[in-house]
Amino acid sequence: MGTIDGKLGFLTRSVHVGNDIDRETGAIRRPITMANSYALPYDPSDLNWSSSDVRIYTRNGGANQQYLQEKLASLEGAEDCAVLATGVAALAGVFFTFLKSGDHAVVSDSTYIAAYRLMHELLPGKYGIRTTLADSSDPAAIHAALRPETKLIHIETPSNPTIKISDIAAIAETARSRGLLLSVDNTFASPYNQCPLALGADLCVESLTKYINGHGDAMGGAVAGRRELIDKIRAEAMVNLGGAVSPFNAWLIMRGAVTLPLRMRQHNAAALQVAGFLEQHPAVRFVSYPGLESHAGHTVAKKQMPGGFGGVMAFGLKAGHDAHNRMVSRLKIITSAVSLGHDESLIVFLGEQDERQYLYPPEFHAGFYRLSIGLEDPEDLIDDLAQALSFL
Ligand SMILES: *Cc1c(COP(=O)(O)O)cnc(C)c1O
Repeated sequence: MGTIDGKLGFLTRSVHVGNDIDRETGAIRRPITMANSYALPYDPSDLNWSSSDVRIYTRNGGANQQYLQEKLASLEGAEDCAVLATGVAALAGVFFTFLKSGDHAVVSDSTYIAAYRLMHELLPGKYGIRTTLADSSDPAAIHAALRPETKLIHIETPSNPTIKISDIAAIAETARSRGLLLSVDNTFASPYNQCPLALGADLCVESLTKYINGHGDAMGGAVAGRRELIDKIRAEAMVNLGGAVSPFNAWLIMRGAVTLPLRMRQHNAAALQVAGFLEQHPAVRFVSYPGLESHAGHTVAKKQMPGGFGGVMAFGLKAGHDAHNRMVSRLKIITSAVSLGHDESLIVFLGEQDERQYLYPPEFHAGFYRLSIGLEDPEDLIDDLAQALSFL
């Protein structure tokens, strides 16, 4: 793809960027390079062994990882991208690289559990990094949480597990005016639906485990942004913390990413259909999905998610704890399991004892589900939910 410039569409880039003809065999797909080390030059003595710009050792950057970085940088509209072992390695990489003892960070009060654990417990407890959890759906609340020593704002939109929407451009404006870094966890949207860097974020974090791989069979994470920031993440979080992705997983994710736009179109359309069905069902107490007009963040989501609203929703029943479990046990197609963005639909029940209950809006307090809509026929998913709900 070296000779074609960046004007190509998202689908074309999903197919071609990072792939090339293998020089040795002529194969039109790049091979999986399962090697820990790469041949050294005649005189290796002046190499920086922690460098990630020459191929030395797979933890410093292997071939498959670099191909995947090329593809993802292109899809995120970024100068560069670092690919890591998991989405959590990517989050930890951002926090570890850009925060030091005495710094303060403002974090969305609705995030993936590991972001909460890192920012609310581990980094404050072990390294003296202070953090404030703020309601990022209100840009004024983010502004009010800033301190002179604030260095980073981290948000997630749509968020896990309440599907809260935060206005990326408005928060980016605050970050820019105060000289702070803004990182956005884009996992629930994927780069097909939403482009945080184009909206003014400095760093875009993805769990590749979810939509980008899309097949529920490989873990990975990525951070995209300006080269100077990504170089720091590679040097500190990949080479020296060791969160490198395996070549095989990088290859699987590369293969999955080819069909990302097609899969996202289907996830978006099917989720809107299922959310509409649930919202009018008499046994359903509430549905949180940004594609519904009833969602508090619908207007912002429409503005910043041109591709669609994603495949994940939260909902609760007009029934108690046991009935929520019973409904799941009656499902025949939708699987009770964590994760999201897979080809198959997945549901998780988060009960009324969930440890972050105090951060959730009141409608979540009686227990709720997170439902990730897969690639099955939406009619079959609706029928499955309808039969499972029919005892209520
Ligand atoms: C799953 C997830 C992560 C963590 O990714 P892993 O690949 O499981 O480490 C981070 N952020 C969000 C929003 C997620 O859904």
